[in-house]
Amino acid sequence: MDAVIVGGGHNGLVCAAYLARAGKRVLVLERRAELGGAAVSERPFAGHDARLSRYAYLVSLFPRQIVADLGIDLELATRHVSAYAPPNLLLREAPGGSWDAFTRLFDTMLGPLPSRDEARALVGDGPWRDLVERPLGETLRAHFDDPLVRGVVATDGLIGTFASLYDESLAQNRCFLWHVVGGAWRVPVGGMGALSDKLASAAVTAGAIVRTRADVVRIESGDVTWRDDSGEHTVTASHVVANVAPSVLARLRGREAAPSAEGCQTKVNLLLDRLPRLRSGVSPEDAFAGTFRLNESEDELEAAYAAAAAGELPDPAPAELYCHSLTDPSIVPPGMHTLTLFGLHTPASLFDADGDGAKRTLRDRYLDALDEHLADPIRECVASDANGEECIEVKSPRDLERELNIPGGNIFHGALSWPWGEGEAAGTWGVETDDERIVVCGAGATRGGGVSGIGGHNAAMSILTP
Ligand SMILES: Cc1cc2nc3c(=O)[nH]c(=O)nc-3n(C[C@H](O)[C@H](O)[C@H](O)COP(=O)(O)OP(=O)(O)OC[C@H]3O[C@@H](n4cnc5c(N)ncnc54)[C@H](O)[C@@H]3O)c2cc1C
Repeated sequence: MDAVIVGGGHNGLVCAAYLARAGKRVLVLERRAELGGAAVSERPFAGHDARLSRYAYLVSLFPRQIVADLGIDLELATRHVSAYAPPNLLLREAPGGSWDAFTRLFDTMLGPLPSRDEARALVGDGPWRDLVERPLGETLRAHFDDPLVRGVVATDGLIGTFASLYDESLAQNRCFLWHVVGGAWRVPVGGMGALSDKLASAAVTAGAIVRTRADVVRIESGDVTWRDDSGEHTVTASHVVANVAPSVLARLRGREAAPSAEGCQTKVNLLLDRLPRLRSGVSPEDAFAGTFRLNESEDELEAAYAAAAAGELPDPAPAELYCHSLTDPSIVPPGMHTLTLFGLHTPASLFDADGDGAKRTLRDRYLDALDEHLADPIRECVASDANGEECIEVKSPRDLERELNIPGGNIFHGALSWPWGEGEAAGTWGVETDDERIVVCGAGATRGGGVSGIGGHNAAMSILTP
């Protein structure tokens, strides 16, 4: 084998497709029954043919070049509203302002890492100071007077990142950069699974062999051992490409894993018989098409962070939701809708003592907070499944850890990094490890986070054009 790819997430599939198209013999080993990792569509509610983007749901980081290179037919639909924040803040365009400068960095994503100075020259001194040299919270205060507007902008820095807006580590700044660098967030038509299906098909058509239910248990340089229903198998390859998180890779190599940043978000999927009306009189088609914000003023976000850092579930609990089916009705039966909610500042450790209890408490807090703005209580609109249960599923970081094997449920496989190389890292692909036969292709690569395929592309290039 030329390359064994450990994990069939979307990045593993992108890497497999590039390598197979270049004539390499490629084997993909995925432990789940389905390919795609966090980029999948599934039917979570018995009795309903609603195919929901169960984990990741929006795309902004997937470069057109990968779409063209792999010949996939990726359709992304634009939401007609950007955000709605009760009582009545309706935004048709995101308030990005001078941060548009950062989108210039996006053109560097599929090449070797630029140096810090090169990145700074691309971005310009003003935006660089605003985002790279001081905490996001300070920058937002300098740009916006209203704490609600500051909060609406700030959440791009807090999706999947547990930090205060004033954290000196700047983890929130890096997360913010990754949320603005690709431009608008759009809806993959057919759901996130449609994207992964197309990537899988590109890889297989090019000749890659794909095995599901194949759980990799050991990696020793070029030797990869996995288990499936028929027992344990080992294959030797010139290159091993890890789509798993860096700390999972360390464990598979028999090494101690450095502690990685824990995940901090709660995902709630709901299926509705109808959309609820709003007290404000804004139409539900406007309010839910964009990101609907709950308890996301700057003060509420900071209070939620402080509570969670002290070991408490946040109350009020900040969250944002939107209605995927308003932009893409193809994923639900006619007349039905789905809401997808992303709760912030709920780190994995808050679910350790009583995970189910914590999930119930958060679910009720989110739904109660939503009801404050509704003329029709949300529970009257929620559909019932084949067993008469409410069509509501709640996924904590611990659920994500178990289902996707992402340590601590961190949606980016670990803390996000800046998209440039410091010192000797400049000029590399950002995927290398201390073993020249092993590279990473997943979200844990230097530019791997989000549904982007960038990690997969860059791992393939490190092998094809070392
Ligand atoms: C709830 C949630 C919401 C998100 N929302 C968005 C969003 O809207 N937009 C966005 O851009 N990003 C979003 N993200 C982040 C994004 O989904 C991830 O960063 C991205 O999917 C990572 O892709 P990947 O291929 O690198 O890794 P993964 O998707 O994690 O795939 C890794 C694969 O490796 C497999 N694997 C793990 N261990 C083994 C093993 N031992 N043997 C074999 N296989 C193994 C896993 O089963 C998985 O299939 C979200 C993530 C989550 C969890």
